[in-house]
Amino acid sequence: MPHSAFPNLSVLDHPLIQHKLTLLRDRTTSTRDFKNLVSEIAMLMAFEVTKDLPTEPVDIDTPLERMTGRRVSDKKLTLVPILRAGLGMVDGISQLIPTARVGHIGMARDENSLEPTRYYAKLPSEEGDRDYFVLDPMLATGGSGTAAVTTLKTAGARRIRFLCIVAAPEGVRRMLDGHPDVRIFAAALDRELNAHGYILPGLGDAGDRLFGTR
Ligand code: URA
Repeated sequence: MPHSAFPNLSVLDHPLIQHKLTLLRDRTTSTRDFKNLVSEIAMLMAFEVTKDLPTEPVDIDTPLERMTGRRVSDKKLTLVPILRAGLGMVDGISQLIPTARVGHIGMARDENSLEPTRYYAKLPSEEGDRDYFVLDPMLATGGSGTAAVTTLKTAGARRIRFLCIVAAPEGVRRMLDGHPDVRIFAAALDRELNAHGYILPGLGDAGDRLFGTR
């Protein structure tokens, strides 16, 4: 259901997602646990985000008789992690949807202006109608997220969803202004950004905590 303050945002408040998010935020959570939790949360989020996927009938034989089952229609899905923290969300979703292709977009944030520059983009070649899930655990200022969406649209993408774990109001607003057609799915909408562009209360630097860097 869309958030009351933002029509482009759905907060996924499933108890398992919220439980794992609390562990993720905890500063004492180890790098290994952080990585596993990001992956698990992404998988649980994908379960919700894909609940409107179309299905079609298929005839099969069980060991006992013939029946008509249902399968997901042959829709093509591309995951696009924003480097580098978005990488942490790929495995969990790929376990649910192993046929998903994976593109990559690299964005670096200028420490002073907080504005992003794209340094890398590699997307699967266009193959019919594809759905795109852009992945980044943190939607902070929205600079990288909106720039990644612009990159995809320039490459011809039309159906794009944005999956993040923690969103800041500033980032959600920027996406709404720049790309009102893109639905955002988040595990939480936090209070605000600090002067350095970190989300409060947030979980710190997602890339550093995922990869054990500082
Ligand atoms: N990126 C992060 O990793 N954390 C934040 O709080 C904001 C942007």
